[in-house]
Amino acid sequence: MSYTESPALANHLMDTVLPVRPAMVDRGSGVRMKPGMVDDLVASGTAKAMVVSKRKALVTAEGLWFGDASQLWQALDGTGTEAAAIYLGTTLGPSSLPEGTAVLLFTVVDPAVLGTAAVPPHAEWAGFREVAGRLDANDTALFIEASAISNWHATHTHCPQCGTPTNVEAGGWVRRCPKDNSEHYPRTDPAIIVTVVGPDGRLLLGGGGPADARNYSTLAGFVEPGESLEQAVVREIGEEVGVHVKACQYLGSQSWPFPASLMLGFTATTDDAVARPDGVEVTRARWFSREELQEAVLNGEITISTRLSIARSLIEHWYGGVIEDLQP
Ligand SMILES: [Zn+2]
Repeated sequence: MSYTESPALANHLMDTVLPVRPAMVDRGSGVRMKPGMVDDLVASGTAKAMVVSKRKALVTAEGLWFGDASQLWQALDGTGTEAAAIYLGTTLGPSSLPEGTAVLLFTVVDPAVLGTAAVPPHAEWAGFREVAGRLDANDTALFIEASAISNWHATHTHCPQCGTPTNVEAGGWVRRCPKDNSEHYPRTDPAIIVTVVGPDGRLLLGGGGPADARNYSTLAGFVEPGESLEQAVVREIGEEVGVHVKACQYLGSQSWPFPASLMLGFTATTDDAVARPDGVEVTRARWFSREELQEAVLNGEITISTRLSIARSLIEHWYGGVIEDLQP
């Protein structure tokens, strides 16, 4: 029986997995195929644009800064390969932009090419982590999408088969080689991120870096070619903390394009009660009961991942509720 046939089964699944965060943008995978659609949007005078340079976006105190796409493109005109326009989609709900607004991404190699005329003085360049706490859901989704696609363009400028510079098509979502006509699509690197639960129900968290660091988080690692997600979970947990995972379950995912990851969240169980950190990626590992974890966070003994991350969602999924943070 599938969950479409059984509301009870669907409800059970909803309780056991992480909630789905709805898309904020219609990416228009059909409309972006039309040749010249980005030029048409720029010329329409109705599109908005955000600007990214060197992994930073222009932001204001309110969130992402969006300029008038046609005015901004004129300010960038004549910069040649300094700038590229990519179609991000149209907004699906009311947010910092009205519903149905077409949003473009302009990427510039050198922030100075924008000059000061096209950008208000209160806008500044900031990376995602610096401003994530003050972005609404729409701005967060656009910053994530913009980071993912601009990182790919920045590192995939030439054909991997023959080395010829490639041309941008499909609103920025395809690059094509003019010599051998091969098409190249944006890539995403899958990584698993896991809560490991021991035989007594305690949670295993780990950390790397300085011995005096207090941060503990879920364990994670990249999926290797030819490997299933489940195999990656078993291998990574075995490598990092010497614990054998006997079963795992997928709970949800989060795009983390810094530079190109898709985090696939799992919870896994083990019969092992002793963790042995590899001393390289993981230098400390510790089992926590729910009471121990909440107390260690509140008394400042440890820190755990912020609410922006799927790591926090996975930990709170195991916890069964919200973990209170130590207030600064
Ligand atoms: Zn080629």
